[in-house]
Amino acid sequence: MNEREWLQEKRAERIIRNLSKNCMNGHYFASARDAVPEILRHIPGGSVVGLGDSLTLQQTGIIAALEKGDYHLLNPWAEQDGERKVEMQRRIFTADVFVAGTNAITLEGELINMDGRGNRVAAMIFGPKKVLVVAGTNKIVPDREEGFRRIREIAGPANAQRHRWFPKDMQPPCATTGFCSDCKPPATICCALTVIRGQRVDKDRIHVFLIAEELGL
Ligand code: SF4
Repeated sequence: MNEREWLQEKRAERIIRNLSKNCMNGHYFASARDAVPEILRHIPGGSVVGLGDSLTLQQTGIIAALEKGDYHLLNPWAEQDGERKVEMQRRIFTADVFVAGTNAITLEGELINMDGRGNRVAAMIFGPKKVLVVAGTNKIVPDREEGFRRIREIAGPANAQRHRWFPKDMQPPCATTGFCSDCKPPATICCALTVIRGQRVDKDRIHVFLIAEELGL
């Protein structure tokens, strides 16, 4: 293990300790290849599994693995029809398991996210009985302020660029400029800013899988 890997591991250990204090669970893996089987181990066969829109889930191969497994998959992002997509996003609230990424995770063990519609953060907060959050160590930030800054400077503009297939009047300016100008609806993809500080009960509900790779946006 080199010095950089050692440092990542120490940061991950601190996050996992703090997630536990916040009634959540943390797991750390050196690679996505190590993480995926463990993530699948948390999903019983036959489960209804909802997916949040996440580049991390694509890059790690989790979506491909779920597609091959014994699951009933709800993947709104594979749905082309707008109404059916929203209907599926609603059905996800009663799924057995929700799998999603996160925009940032603080050393205090908090999950920071910004959503356009809010379907992802709503499902993370309440709904599916189990929530599995997958994140590269590039999502680690020291505190909430840095998490908000990460969303403004990196995740927001990069996600806007990723969604440049949106109709013209729904295109945020940062999709072109690369910089946040605090845009407003209907163009903005930044409508619901959430901090999940923890849960009151059900410690087994939220599991965070930290992977020592640069993943997602
Ligand atoms: S310009 Fe708009 S969509 Fe882009 S990061 Fe800023 S608030 Fe979000």
